[in-house]
Amino acid sequence: MMKKAVLSISGGLDSTTVLTWLLNNDYEVFPIQFQYGSKHNEYEARAIKMVMGHYRSEHKQCPYPGKLNPLQVIDLTGAMAGFTSNLLKTGGDIPEGHYANANMALTVVPARNIIFLSIAAGLAESLGAEAIALGIHQGDHDIYPDCRKEFFDSMNESIKLGTGGKISILAPFLDTDKAGIVKYGIHNGTPYKLTRTCYKDQSVPCGRCGSCCERREAFAKNKQEDPVPAEDQDYFRTIKKETR
Ligand SMILES: [Zn+2]
Repeated sequence: MMKKAVLSISGGLDSTTVLTWLLNNDYEVFPIQFQYGSKHNEYEARAIKMVMGHYRSEHKQCPYPGKLNPLQVIDLTGAMAGFTSNLLKTGGDIPEGHYANANMALTVVPARNIIFLSIAAGLAESLGAEAIALGIHQGDHDIYPDCRKEFFDSMNESIKLGTGGKISILAPFLDTDKAGIVKYGIHNGTPYKLTRTCYKDQSVPCGRCGSCCERREAFAKNKQEDPVPAEDQDYFRTIKKETR
C-alpha cells in the first residue's frame, strides 16, 4: 500500500525538495498551501502552481513512483490578521542581510509552525495519511524558535499523542543543511527555476533579504548559479553573520 503524507508547500527550496523526495520514495502526497497575509503569499502561490504543474503533467510524473494530489489552499488570513510580523502585509519593511542575524527576527510570524502543524495533523488524520512531511533541516536558525529541532521533537510527540499514534512528522532532511537539500534536488530534478524564496512584496526576488541570501548561498556552496535571477545577484557574498 502506498504511504501517504500531507506536505505544507510554500513554493520555496525546502518544501519543493521534500516534494521531490516524497515522490521518489513512493508517497502519495497531499499538498496544502497556507495563505496568511504574508507579503510574498501571492508570489508563493504562483510558484506552487508552476511546481505542481511540473510534477502533475503526465510526462514529468512518469519517473516518480509516488502520486501527487491536487493542491488544497487553506486561508488563514482572517485568523492571523492581528498577528505582528514584518513578514505580513500589515508589518514593516523586510530586513536585509544575513539570515541568522538578529534583525531577521522581525520576520518571525508568532507561533506559525504550531498553527500550521496542528492543522496539517487534523487533515492528515482525516485523509488517512500517516505523516506530515517537513523541510526542517540543520542550520543556523536560533532566531526562529519554531524552526529548531527541539520544537519539532516536542511537536512530533504532541501530534503522536493527540492522534493516538496515527500521525507523526517526517523530516527527510533533518540531518542535512540547506546546501545539502539543494544538492539532493539538483541530482533528483527538483524544478528550482520555478521556485520562489524572497520575502518581499515584489515579483523579481530582491537578493538582499535573509531568505534570498540563504538560498543563493546554498546554490553557491554547490558551485551552481541560482536558476532564478535576483535584483542583486551577488549581495549575499558581501554580507557577514553577526558574532554574538
Ligand atoms: Zn529577497
